[in-house]
Amino acid sequence: MAFVILDPCQGEKAGECVSVCPVDCIVEGPDQFYIDPDVCIDCAACKAVCPVDAIEEEYDLAPEQEVFLTKAEAFFANR
Ligand code: SF4
Repeated sequence: MAFVILDPCQGEKAGECVSVCPVDCIVEGPDQFYIDPDVCIDCAACKAVCPVDAIEEEYDLAPEQEVFLTKAEAFFANR
């Protein structure tokens, strides 16, 4: 399981999530921050500090939000 950063991050990119992640799996991308779904340990620390409530657990995503998990997977696959 993993947490996923959604569209409220786009244009905000506050970045509080990066410093609280215990496994250092949040990386800044060109349009938003991304969580590496292969490394995330599902601790929810990032969700608690996000000022725009942009982070959701993978299994709580609405169907139209699942594209953000796909985007994260592609982001880390291409690094
Ligand atoms: Fe990092 Fe925890 Fe957020 Fe996963 S849920 S990205 S491990 S802070």
